[in-house]
Amino acid sequence: MLSQLGDEAKLLAGGQSLIPLMKLRFASPKHLVDLNFISGTSYIKEEDGALRFGALTRHAEVESSAGAAKVPILHDCAAGIADAQVRNRGTIGGSLAEADPSGDWATVLMTLETEVRCLSTKGERIVPLPEFIKDAYTTALSPDEVLGEVIVKVPRKASGGAYLAFKRSAPVYPTASAAVQLTMEGDVCKEAVIALGCVGLTPIRPKEAEFALRGKQLTDTAISAAVESARGAADPQSDMRGSADYKRTLVGALVKRAIEIAVQRAAGKQVEVSHIYA
Ligand SMILES: Cc1cc2nc3c(=O)[nH]c(=O)nc-3n(C[C@H](O)[C@H](O)[C@H](O)COP(=O)(O)OP(=O)(O)OC[C@H]3O[C@@H](n4cnc5c(N)ncnc54)[C@H](O)[C@@H]3O)c2cc1C
Repeated sequence: MLSQLGDEAKLLAGGQSLIPLMKLRFASPKHLVDLNFISGTSYIKEEDGALRFGALTRHAEVESSAGAAKVPILHDCAAGIADAQVRNRGTIGGSLAEADPSGDWATVLMTLETEVRCLSTKGERIVPLPEFIKDAYTTALSPDEVLGEVIVKVPRKASGGAYLAFKRSAPVYPTASAAVQLTMEGDVCKEAVIALGCVGLTPIRPKEAEFALRGKQLTDTAISAAVESARGAADPQSDMRGSADYKRTLVGALVKRAIEIAVQRAAGKQVEVSHIYA
């Protein structure tokens, strides 16, 4: 249908981004192609060391999935998105396709090895997530393509991650957020991946902050160096949620807390995480 209707058509998944935009008249598609009637598009499967999410998998389904809970940062994300109504309708595929700079999924999935399966009448292609998210509200999808599946490699043993977002209330997007995924060997950090959310047009990977942790014992000095680098890499805009300076300070504090929780989880401890509210 997309290839027949061309760019006057929009796909409808959970409708939790598209319908508000249509209500505000920021989007007025001539045709809506409703994906909700296609069976077999909502699932969570574990295969060959990867978790596979059908595009229509709702945030709430990820939140309650025992399979996804094996990668705690996924549960942190799903459980913290907006309120129950939004989580019951909104989908992981819709969230990545929307590429909202304040969306949670892209930030979290950037810290894991994530690929996106894109489908069209011409066939399918697998796109690594960093190449899929091109810019604010812009992805690698062409107008006749559908996001079919999100494939997330399960991190190796002794890995742990955490995602923290700071919000003014549940049904609003975060003011800032930080995702951290670490792999430890004893008390030395072998691998560190950090992504900052809501402080740039796309999730930001603060490479120097990751470098400050990699191969190091995670002392207060190493963590402080990573936090400073993360603050420096953030590129926030002042808006109704706070000034750019405020957001830069905030994102540093979130990175610090997320590192501390990731270390504990990498050691096998169960640590509950919830978003932080003003
Ligand atoms: C009050 C409120 C608060 C919210 N707060 C948050 C929040 O805190 N954090 C957060 O991350 N999100 C938040 N959201 C957004 C929510 O997570 C949405 O579910 C998500 O952004 C879009 O998913 P959807 O399934 O609803 O997509 P839709 O709204 O149906 O579609 C969004 C866009 O993606 C396209 N699309 C959808 N599915 C596909 C597909 N499979 N292939 C190709 N294109 C596709 C559509 O054509 C459309 O352009 C909030 C929404 C509301 C209404």
